[in-house]
Amino acid sequence: MRGLMMDRPLQVSALLDYAAEVHGAGAVVSRTVEGCIHRYTYREARGRVAQLAHALGEHGIGRGDRVATLAWNGYRHFEIYYAASGIGAVCHTINPRLFPDQVVYIVNHAADRVLFVDLTFLPLVESLIGRMPCVEHVVVMTDAAQMRGTALPNALCYEDLLAGRPAAIDWPELDENTAASLCYTSGTTGNPKGVLYSHRSTVLHALSVGLNAASVRLTHADRVLPVVPLFHVNAWALPYVAPVTGAALVFPGPKLDGASLFDLMDAERVTASWGVPTVWLGLLAEMRRRNAKPAALASILVGGSAVPRAMIEEFEGWQIEAIHGWGMTEMSPVGSLGIIRKDQDGKTPEERMARKLKQGRRMFMVDMKIVGPDGAPLPKDGIASGELLVRGPAVTGGYYENDDASRAAFDGEGWFRTGDIATIDPDGFILIVDRIKDIIKSGGEWISSIDLENAAMGHPAVAEAAVIALPHPKWGERPLLIVVPAVGATAGKDDIIAFLATKIAKWSLPDDVVFAESLPHTATGKLQKSELREQFAGYVLPTARKDR
Ligand code: AMP
Repeated sequence: MRGLMMDRPLQVSALLDYAAEVHGAGAVVSRTVEGCIHRYTYREARGRVAQLAHALGEHGIGRGDRVATLAWNGYRHFEIYYAASGIGAVCHTINPRLFPDQVVYIVNHAADRVLFVDLTFLPLVESLIGRMPCVEHVVVMTDAAQMRGTALPNALCYEDLLAGRPAAIDWPELDENTAASLCYTSGTTGNPKGVLYSHRSTVLHALSVGLNAASVRLTHADRVLPVVPLFHVNAWALPYVAPVTGAALVFPGPKLDGASLFDLMDAERVTASWGVPTVWLGLLAEMRRRNAKPAALASILVGGSAVPRAMIEEFEGWQIEAIHGWGMTEMSPVGSLGIIRKDQDGKTPEERMARKLKQGRRMFMVDMKIVGPDGAPLPKDGIASGELLVRGPAVTGGYYENDDASRAAFDGEGWFRTGDIATIDPDGFILIVDRIKDIIKSGGEWISSIDLENAAMGHPAVAEAAVIALPHPKWGERPLLIVVPAVGATAGKDDIIAFLATKIAKWSLPDDVVFAESLPHTATGKLQKSELREQFAGYVLPTARKDR
């Protein structure tokens, strides 16, 4: 028997419409590329989104057309999100930190018809436009006064495009499975793969994140600063979640260093901020330097890479809660959050810390299982580790126009293979042990590169650490630790190994430690281990030499 409720489609436009009506005074603050602070409300944002939607329509952009962006976190980028999806087009965010060849590949693969670009990235577009024949219009995201002379034929000015158009619109009714946005994963091998989100998946994902609004400080009394970029997995859904919960959005623009973030957070009384660990290293260094914290900052959400214990402890020392999250582009992206229940998740501070170091519990509407090499499910006992598989209405069902990658991504029952190895404990906390391709297989045992990196980061002389597997004649693989020393630090190899020996089992200690000025990161701030593996391809571990 079917239920008798209205079959109304879930549409992305409804999120902003709701914000405009219910949280109309809620603020959207942006530090712009041009350098000033721009402010308006959700109500005003809705008006400009309508103007942009009309402009897109008049330029022949409609259902299914891909509308690309190369832009920082700011109010105009936010407007494109809603205007493009609202009219049934697809908002395709592109990561400007990718190699230019990858940008060209992505634009052509997606067949983008319009490209919106921040002034910063105009030179990049000028140099690549000849290789992107699908792009009919380039829109420079600025006003007439800032519009520089450009070599691009027929470049349009964003503010001119909006000027004089109606600030109201009746959104078309769309099938809720219509594509709303597109984001390519910056895979370390092969071409990037497109994840095509639907209106339904986007709204459901926003609601599931929003269920945690009080715990992660996203209520209407909060002000959240997404350091996570709008150009990568929708800034972890903040542009969709904040409008419905009413939290103010504070966009940082292009300046993401510790001092600039501190100043903006402090001035705008930001209560919560989301970002990857590398960003927080910068902010913490600045807090140490000033011996102060941004005035209202109470909560940090950290994800994208594992969070070292030292980072959680340092934030807590400033009365800032650090919440660990895990997710993937393919999951819209939030898969789990480390929200601690006081009645259940540890009696002592040490027990609670053990939970905080895990990647948290699954989100509502995300099912999880771990499986062994034969695909058989493993127990959720916190001990057994295997590949983590997920499914849910906001998990991808296949990559855009990429059958080979799609076939490889699912098990026989349609679960998505994350490529992460995890344990799941009886309370539901997952622990990401490693990426399948990064784990070190030593004499039949697994050594987690993440464990080693996090332990090394606890040493005061270590600013950043990476661990890769190197070949070993006896053990198959053994770990090499690469360390970026903290400013002014002098610790040597023996000192670091002695420190690690107090934290981890002897057989999993690194066989060697080398020092580097910096480590390579991917366009989304993760350690780029493929590059490190290439860099150290010829390196022979001292233990390997001895055994020869
Ligand atoms: P992306 O699709 O670029 O967001 O990358 C997703 C991958 O990042 C996951 O499959 C994990 O390997 C890694 N990742 C994300 N969050 C965490 C975390 N909190 N701890 C460890 N790895 C993470």
